[in-house]
Amino acid sequence: MILSISSIALELHADLAADSPYSRALERDLPRRLARLSPWGRFCRPVKLLLVDNSIELKLLAPRASLLDLRGLAWNDAVWLLRPERWPAPPDPGEWVTLVLHELAHILWFQRSTSPERAPAYAPTWFREGLAVVAAEGLPPATGRRYLADDAVESAAYSDDAGIADLGGVVYAVAAQLFAAWWQQHGTRPYASLCRELRAGRGFSAAFLLACEVDDRAFVAAEAARWRAEARTQ
Ligand SMILES: [Zn+2]
Repeated sequence: MILSISSIALELHADLAADSPYSRALERDLPRRLARLSPWGRFCRPVKLLLVDNSIELKLLAPRASLLDLRGLAWNDAVWLLRPERWPAPPDPGEWVTLVLHELAHILWFQRSTSPERAPAYAPTWFREGLAVVAAEGLPPATGRRYLADDAVESAAYSDDAGIADLGGVVYAVAAQLFAAWWQQHGTRPYASLCRELRAGRGFSAAFLLACEVDDRAFVAAEAARWRAEARTQ
């Protein structure tokens, strides 16, 4: 199936049977839900959506060795997903569309922040996963911060695959809260200049400092301190 969504310039080529509930959910819900991605730009190249039959195959496609039990992977204008019927507990179609949206948000970020001849620019876990979670699921409720204030926010924010495998959902919850806070404090213009600096070949920390006038680790530490202070007064 080919899905063309003009509002965000997405042309999605998916190898899904047209009669599957998952392709019906994609056709029905994705165009509307993709409108949520528009604050973060438009796609500049078509995206392929490919399904694989088992998680080992998915791991082999990952650009780096991964310890995670992967369901989806975004890389080089393509999204690879574990065929939903092969999940240990098959997702409901809505949950599956959320995963598609999450992976498409990664692709959108790659397309915006990387010039075609470069490998996708590195972004720390909190920014990369935070953008994808917020894009796919919306801004997290601020009340969620109080449950995260006791966790090691800084280490979750910069955790590698091993850390994500170890801490699980906390990493994504921390990432979403940090990204939401960053977006609310900085927003469109710093986002555009961050992308521009990355496309010019700067590393994430240097680009972030130029775009937001704050060091990225200092931003994360200040947020973590704010959450702890909030939790103490509640
Ligand atoms: Zn992700």
